Amino acid sequence: LEAQLADSKAQLDALHANLEAIRYESLTDQLTTLANRKHFDQTIERALFEAETDGTPLSLLLTDIDHFKRFNDSYGHQTGDQVLRLVALAVKQNIKGQDIACRYGGEEFAIILPRTSQKQAIAVGEHIREAVMAKELVKRSTGETLGRITVSIGIGTYRPGDTVQSLIERTDACLYAAKNNGRNKVVSEIDRDLLQKSVA
Ligand code: GH3
Ligand code: MG
Ligand code: MG
Repeated sequence: LEAQLADSKAQLDALHANLEAIRYESLTDQLTTLANRKHFDQTIERALFEAETDGTPLSLLLTDIDHFKRFNDSYGHQTGDQVLRLVALAVKQNIKGQDIACRYGGEEFAIILPRTSQKQAIAVGEHIREAVMAKELVKRSTGETLGRITVSIGIGTYRPGDTVQSLIERTDACLYAAKNNGRNKVVSEIDRDLLQKSVA
């Protein structure tokens, strides 16, 4: 009986480990190993709820690679994929503990920064932008140098009454402003307001 019990327990443990692995896989983007869109959707809901109930700040970063289509057209999709991994690494290396980086769309990453003010989020965004720009791209197979790539980043910060959608919309508008103001830029909501005033 004891042997049977031990056997059952081993089987249960194996099943449990299997389930964990499947769960991890279902929430992870394979190319970059960042969290995937599904994970993002779940996490942003929770983060918003926490900001609402605890009154803590919450910031969201959206990054988009500049002229990435051009890069793919010049060097091929495979090399483009390697660049995506490189940008993902730069993101990972510039966030910490509670922050969650996700692959939001093809060449767009979303980074959820709980308990992070707009000012702190701008610093994170600048670190990511600089880290990407600092890398000189070299094609491993041939040693060919491919220059550098840059990213544009929009930053939204939670306001009372926000929904996931309204927060993403404001963040996206900041990203759009970063693109329109020359790319390779970090634009937060304060910056965006200033940019709009200077145009008006
Ligand atoms: P912008 O500076 O305005 O963002 O220009 P862009 O060319 O990056 O923007 P656009 O949205 O027109 O194109 C995005 C391109 O990203 C299209 C596609 O070539 C590339 N892309 C999207 N997903 C992937 C992917 O998984 N792998 C690779 N290699 N490229 C991708
Ligand atoms: Mg894009
Ligand atoms: Mg792009």
